Amino acid sequence: MARTYASRKRVLVTGGAGFLGSHLIDRLLSDGHEVLCADNLFTGTKRNIEHLLTNPRFEFLRHDVTFPLYVEVDEIYNLACPASPIQYQHDPVQTTKTSVHGAINMLGLAKRLKCRILQASTSEVYGDPAVHPQTEHYWGHVNPIGPRSCYDEGKRCAETLFFDYHRQAGVEIKVARIFNTYGPRMHRADGRVVSNFIIQALAGEPITLFGDGNQTRSFCFVSDLIDGLVRLMETPPSFTGPVNLGNPVEFTMRELAELILKETESSSKLVNMALPQDDPRQRQPDISLAKAKLGWEPQIKLADGLKPTVNYFRQDNLQAGAVRKHVQTTVAAPQGPTILREFAGTAG
Ligand code: NAD
Ligand code: UDP
Repeated sequence: MARTYASRKRVLVTGGAGFLGSHLIDRLLSDGHEVLCADNLFTGTKRNIEHLLTNPRFEFLRHDVTFPLYVEVDEIYNLACPASPIQYQHDPVQTTKTSVHGAINMLGLAKRLKCRILQASTSEVYGDPAVHPQTEHYWGHVNPIGPRSCYDEGKRCAETLFFDYHRQAGVEIKVARIFNTYGPRMHRADGRVVSNFIIQALAGEPITLFGDGNQTRSFCFVSDLIDGLVRLMETPPSFTGPVNLGNPVEFTMRELAELILKETESSSKLVNMALPQDDPRQRQPDISLAKAKLGWEPQIKLADGLKPTVNYFRQDNLQAGAVRKHVQTTVAAPQGPTILREFAGTAG
């Protein structure tokens, strides 16, 4: 979209080299804006943004959001944070710092600039929910001292900070509670269920079904999610959220595995493995608020969104010249940074 200089915004996207961030930047650039991507490349990769490096409206800054940032922008999307259980549990203290110090730094920047700021929060603020489906009014059921707490409580504290900066300093905030999202550019070693199952199916390896496979999740295709974030940012100042963004159609992990086996035409067998601690039994967003306030609901069915996602991982395998197996199914012990070695191999 062509824009005049006056209608073009300078947008900061933290975590912009990650899965969601890189798609959001694609969208903002195609809408005619300028984008500054700030990312420390912990779980993101340059590969996700390499197609943007020659775009004069795009700039990349290697920066850790736990440190202050002094830039001049019109809008901020705060996405920086490792998002998969294996990644955020690798260095839990840094995960909490990223959510909490990162929120303080970005909110301080928004306060100085008097600009809008959107927080990528998560369905994990509901924990292992006792209310189903989850509405924004539900306060959640979160273990404050478990292995997932660094992420869940970090994101909850970030929401608190957003609302306190809003009430105390008048910062214009938008809080999105994002439910499981999938699509091209997911990190192959992030251990998330969609990427794990696809990589295993393509390699003809066993599909690692944690627990009995009857736990549920609702999967949103990335383009739908990005559209929801942009719509939320454009709502009037009086609307802060929090608002659920996700696809309300719920699947068991067994059903997901079967869909992926069908799409990949794989004969891999399902194997049951131990269920990770505090793994939520069920998760499904109530998206009535997003429908009413953003005029938004997901358009892409899981079976359709899996096609480009499977193609992405097929291509990824081809580029590696062989079927790479970097599937993570366990969290590394604190002293054994298995997963970091995976990141180190890809983060440049
Ligand atoms: P991702 O891991 O692909 O992206 C996160 C990005 O943040 C990476 O590029 C990483 O390098 C960067 N990052 C991490 N710590 C940082 C730090 N201290 N300073 C600067 N950059 C840092 O994950 P994603 O799936 O794209 O998630 C993006 C955001 O959306 C996260 O905040 C996540 O919590 C939230 N979210 C995602 C999902 C999902 O299903 N993908 C669901 C709920 C919430
Ligand atoms: N899961 C699984 N096999 C895997 C990876 C994950 O059965 O190889 C399960 C996991 O136990 C959880 C669900 O899939 O119940 C979604 O896991 P993911 O890590 O993708 O996201 P989250 O738990 O954060 O929703």
